[in-house]
Amino acid sequence: MSRFFSEKYAALTPYVPGEQPRDMQYLKLNTNESPFPPIPAVVEAAREEASRAHLYSDPTALALRQAIADRLGVTPDMVIAVNGSDEALNFAFMAFCDGGAVFPDVTYGFYPVFARLNGIPYEEIPLRDDFTVDPEDYTARPGKTVFLANPNAPTGIFLPLSSVERIAASDPDRVLVVDEAYVDFGGESAVTLIPQYPNLLVVRTFSKSRSLAGARLGFAVGQPALIADLETIRNSTNPYNVNRMTLAMGTASLAHDDVNLGNCKTVADVRDRTAEALRSLGFEVLPSSANFLFARHPGIGGEDLYRKLRARGILVRHFSLPRIRDYNRITVGSAEQMKTFVAAVREILEDPS
Ligand code: PMP
Repeated sequence: MSRFFSEKYAALTPYVPGEQPRDMQYLKLNTNESPFPPIPAVVEAAREEASRAHLYSDPTALALRQAIADRLGVTPDMVIAVNGSDEALNFAFMAFCDGGAVFPDVTYGFYPVFARLNGIPYEEIPLRDDFTVDPEDYTARPGKTVFLANPNAPTGIFLPLSSVERIAASDPDRVLVVDEAYVDFGGESAVTLIPQYPNLLVVRTFSKSRSLAGARLGFAVGQPALIADLETIRNSTNPYNVNRMTLAMGTASLAHDDVNLGNCKTVADVRDRTAEALRSLGFEVLPSSANFLFARHPGIGGEDLYRKLRARGILVRHFSLPRIRDYNRITVGSAEQMKTFVAAVREILEDPS
């Protein structure tokens, strides 16, 4: 740290993304990326747009917002485009948390980082023993902005929409942010509730279900007044937050959404088959509606398994948080990749040395 660093930030512990080692070629099952590359027409859209890179991108992202709105059956003034959904989450912490924030103790690790970055007091509410959310924990805390990943990460568990609605309805004077990064793999989107709930903000991403993690594209959906607040924050930080190649990729991607959704279905099928294979090896696997599995084995510690897989060139995500340190989060890759993964796990279990 330099002596110039603001005291405001001196105690920050930044979010740690999944490792991206370069020492060898790994089978990467650690950052929930798609095993499918972007659709060729999407790559072509970026290539074409690159020849105009001397010009700023559209600061209103109108074509993309219109395409998203058409896809979701809302209007463009209900959509904001962001540089990865992380940006929308940060904006929501900046914009809507004067009363503090609440989120589960086991959830996306960026929430406490954003809260601390923005000086927002927060409470982490323990999930139930089975890692499900008890909606009453949130209805009992009026005035505090709620952040829920749904499906949750790293558990993969989906909270039924009826519970999401109960939380939204319990206090119309605070915002409920539903982070739907993984919803396309088996959840049900809360976007349908937005017309009834002016306090509901849904955050989505192109990173997972649309194979665009490296392009950095996300969006948030809510009633126009909520979105206008986020636009105030965006235009006060970086009005050209989404570059023109990425805007073009996003719009082209939505024009081929049947391919994206087909890929999601494939991932969900491979996920369910992999979960069965792991269960037959003695794993306890949480019921996942996402593109990853969260699993533990009674015969091997989470970190031990993570290390042994890594030594075999396979990366999964291990978290050292005490409550979940027995588990690993395994991204669902292609059928072939998951075969390799399961075979490696079987070998490790057979040779515990
Ligand atoms: N929310 C959750 C729950 C996530 O796991 C991630 C991915 N790390 C994000 C949001 C952010 O995704 P992105 O910024 O790539 O849209």
